[in-house]
Amino acid sequence: YSIATLQRVKQLPGAKGVKNIIAVSSGKGGVGKSSTALNVALALADQGIRVGVLDADIYGPSLPQMLGTADQRPSSPDGKHMAPIMSYGLATNSIGYLVTDDNAMIWRGPMASKALLQLLNETLWPDLDYLVVDMPPGTGDIQLTLAQNIPVTGAVVVTTPQDVALLDARKGVVMFNKVDVPVLGIVENMSVHICQNCGHQEAIFGHEGAKALSDDYNVPVLGKVPLHIQLREDLDAGVPTVARDPAGPFSELYREIAENI
Ligand code: ADP
Ligand code: MG
Repeated sequence: YSIATLQRVKQLPGAKGVKNIIAVSSGKGGVGKSSTALNVALALADQGIRVGVLDADIYGPSLPQMLGTADQRPSSPDGKHMAPIMSYGLATNSIGYLVTDDNAMIWRGPMASKALLQLLNETLWPDLDYLVVDMPPGTGDIQLTLAQNIPVTGAVVVTTPQDVALLDARKGVVMFNKVDVPVLGIVENMSVHICQNCGHQEAIFGHEGAKALSDDYNVPVLGKVPLHIQLREDLDAGVPTVARDPAGPFSELYREIAENI
């Protein structure tokens, strides 16, 4: 660890039993940050690794819907801390469990950052090998504050192969480099569209985009996930593909990404 990382570790009052914090980040929204974070977390848990997920995406928390826990609220055994909500073996907490109206969407940076740090520090995380943090998209004030105040072991940047997404992903890599958080690699999501009925493959968002980024910044491509209707349907149903079909081909892809992390 660098000195800066160790200083950050010291600053963290909560989450003492958490060994590694992995930030899943993206320059743009809607590229598949949450889908990747959850399916990779499930793939890790499938190997017997203890995993938690913190949904820090204040502007679009989707963990409760995607894990089928939207009707639950964290309990507080001591009136100060929150017990995580368990789903498919993952210990979870989300800004979405706590803010049920639209107010969080208009929070300014400092308020949003504070809420997220509280969510991290005031959740009674069990002993975890990995806490996966689904970060808000972008490289603004909130992301920077979080990257500097959360003792992140490493960051995973999710992008599609589309030029505009890659441009933003590039900014994400630069931001993590600046704040001394190692970028573990890039996940190229929606790399090709696979037709459910005919199996035809089409590169809707372009070819090999993540590779150029990977070459420029010397960070590996951890894996590629195709655009497939089944992945979307499973998330909408609250049962991510890796939980529903752990032996299936998509789960295998997420397992490879998990292994590369
Ligand atoms: P983000 O967290 O980056 O905003 P999401 O993970 O919520 O993005 O993904 C956006 C939408 O696209 C969701 O409805 C999700 O189900 C869908 N989606 C993400 N990745 C895929 C994929 N590889 N194939 C099909 N649908 C996907
Ligand atoms: Mg999301």
